[in-house]
Amino acid sequence: MTQNLIDGKALADELRTAFKTRVAALAARGCRPGLAVILAGENPASQVYVRNKVSACEAAGIYSQKILLAADVSQETLLAKIAELNANPAIHGILVQLPLPRHIHEETVLEAISAEKDVDGFHAENVGALAQGNPRFIPCTPYGVMKMFEAHKVDWVGKEAVVIGRSNIVGKPMALLLINAGATVTVCHSKTRDLASHTRRADILVAAVGKPRFVTADMVKPGAVVIDVGINRLSPEEGGKLCGDVDFEAVKNVAALITPVPGGVGPMTITMLLANTIEAAERRMGA
Ligand code: NAD
Repeated sequence: MTQNLIDGKALADELRTAFKTRVAALAARGCRPGLAVILAGENPASQVYVRNKVSACEAAGIYSQKILLAADVSQETLLAKIAELNANPAIHGILVQLPLPRHIHEETVLEAISAEKDVDGFHAENVGALAQGNPRFIPCTPYGVMKMFEAHKVDWVGKEAVVIGRSNIVGKPMALLLINAGATVTVCHSKTRDLASHTRRADILVAAVGKPRFVTADMVKPGAVVIDVGINRLSPEEGGKLCGDVDFEAVKNVAALITPVPGGVGPMTITMLLANTIEAAERRMGA
């Protein structure tokens, strides 16, 4: 076992145990948190993610509803389903699994989810609240990363943080959270010149690129905290296993703290989805 590992699985288990008290307190008031997960199409990775989310809900005592729609579902049908769930008092959180089929306009769909039920934190209202430093729902993956920093007492104030990736799901909200927390943040992306000159300055380095072993040891400052968000499936010739964006075997010898893949950010993402769903129910109950 690597000494400097951030064990996302163990932290996720700890947090999920703590959630049981909150779920029980809601139950005592006659409320069971409910999450609806909509999946359009048959993307195999999305099917796995949805299955994992639904089973995590069950284990936490959260009611879950899985809504499977055909790949050729019309945008109108999808929007009508969301409207129905917005009005359903048993549902506190609504999640539309991305990516959506190409003919569906993602932004229109995400905006149709009531901001009070937007447990993914992708609605413009929630993105705006996060940007203003007054978040309501924080996107689950970067939220989980912040919990990892907290658990390992990573001091971010005044530190150089570099985020590789600028997606709405991971990179941008990660950067906003780090800015709000007091770090000096650089966001790198596919157009960044001389990436390594940025990453080598990072006290905190977050990789959310989607390219296996993209971050090599020579790109990392000795003693940095390295968070690997990437989930990549290696080719059958390379063993077919899951692999992150960081060359873990080499970078673990340079970093002060590092997350593995699997068992790092992944379990934390689902955990924070549960947290957001419980929080949505608590808000509804005025807690
Ligand atoms: P994305 O494809 O939307 O974004 C990738 C980002 O990487 C882009 O902003 C792009 O500019 C940047 N990029 C691409 N090539 C680059 C290069 N050569 N140099 C610098 N930047 C480059 O992906 P995403 O949705 O942000 O996800 C990123 C990775 O994280 C994927 O592997 C995804 O599967 C994974 N992911 C994991 C979790 C989890 O729970 N662990 C959650 C979400 C996403």
